[in-house]
This record gives sequence, structure tokens and C-alpha cells, in this order.
Amino acid sequence: MPRKITEDCLACGDCMEVCPEEAISEGDPYYIIDPDKCNDCGECEEVCPTEAIIPV
Ligand code: SF4
Ligand code: SF4
Repeated sequence: MPRKITEDCLACGDCMEVCPEEAISEGDPYYIIDPDKCNDCGECEEVCPTEAIIPV
């Protein structure tokens, strides 16, 4: 199950730095997870300061 980024995203970029699949990119206004690349490892969720990343 991939994850997605909600409107709680502050666009800090921390999740993009830790993603091993390069599934996260900068969107407007929030960061975006590519569901085809996400392996559901959960690393992005652990670093997000606002708990903006949730399972789809
Ligand atoms: S870590 Fe959280 S707040 Fe920062 S860019 Fe990613 S989703 Fe947004
Ligand atoms: S769950 Fe893992 S693979 Fe999916 S976006 Fe987050 S860090 Fe990347």
C-alpha cells in the first residue's frame, strides 16, 4: 500500500531526502509521492514533522 502526502505538508523536503526509491518530488503546494515507486517502507512518515504522510 503506497502512502500519500496531505495538506498538512509544510514543504520542508525532509521526506524526499530519506526516500530510498526517489518516489517523492516537490509539488505545488505540497510534496507528492509517486504510488508506482513507493515501496511502503515508512521512512518518510518517520521524519515528517507534521504527520502529513499517511497510508492511502
Ligand atoms: S516531511 Fe512532511 S512536511 Fe516535509 S515535505 Fe515531506 S510531507 Fe511535507
Ligand atoms: S514509504 Fe518509503 S518508498 Fe514510499 S515514499 Fe515514503 S520513503 Fe519513499
